[in-house]
Amino acid sequence: MKKQKALIIIKPDAVQRGLSGTIVKRFEQVGLTIIGFKFQKADEKTVIAHYPSTDAWFEKVGKRTLNNCQVKGIDVKDTFKTDDAITIGKQVKQWLITYFQESPVLVMAVEGYEVIEIVRKLSGNTIPVLAAPGTIRGDFSHDSIDLANETCRPLRNVIHASDAVEDGEKEVALWFTPDELFSYVRCDEKIMFP
Ligand code: GDP
Repeated sequence: MKKQKALIIIKPDAVQRGLSGTIVKRFEQVGLTIIGFKFQKADEKTVIAHYPSTDAWFEKVGKRTLNNCQVKGIDVKDTFKTDDAITIGKQVKQWLITYFQESPVLVMAVEGYEVIEIVRKLSGNTIPVLAAPGTIRGDFSHDSIDLANETCRPLRNVIHASDAVEDGEKEVALWFTPDELFSYVRCDEKIMFP
């Protein structure tokens, strides 16, 4: 079985709140190997490339807000002036570009078996209010999607974690050059995976 790669970004809210070390520990203690690690100011071009500019991605994000509004009986047009999922997704991406440049971010590439499942499980739901206790988003944020939308900003949900095997490969290659990535074996692997 082959290992996979995932990209983790400790987002500006978590960096500014001094949570970086605590969050890195969550990934280390589960046994993932850190193969890349750097602190940097994200440039606009990289953030634009990081979040897809596809209708499928815009629609996924827009539908999150639409579903939430439907469940709570909120008129989505009050905030977004539209009920088109793709247009809403595009607006959220604009907010993300500003947010990612608010402070430095800590970017980390990790490797492990079924690493995408692991990093998403550790991260928790995108909407912190819905993220289970014990997950990073559940433990370190309680941001509300309604509040985020009302104040025209993305959910401040502490981290980014790759969501698919292909995305993990792509995102690691976007944020790291080959000479910034390292290959080594953690000494506890022979106990964890005999
Ligand atoms: P993730 O993979 O869990 O980070 O979720 P997505 O890739 O779908 O969304 C990217 C980021 O956009 C999220 O982490 C949030 O910061 C933000 N976001 C997503 N959906 C919404 C939304 O409906 N409203 C707002 N305000 N922000 C959102």
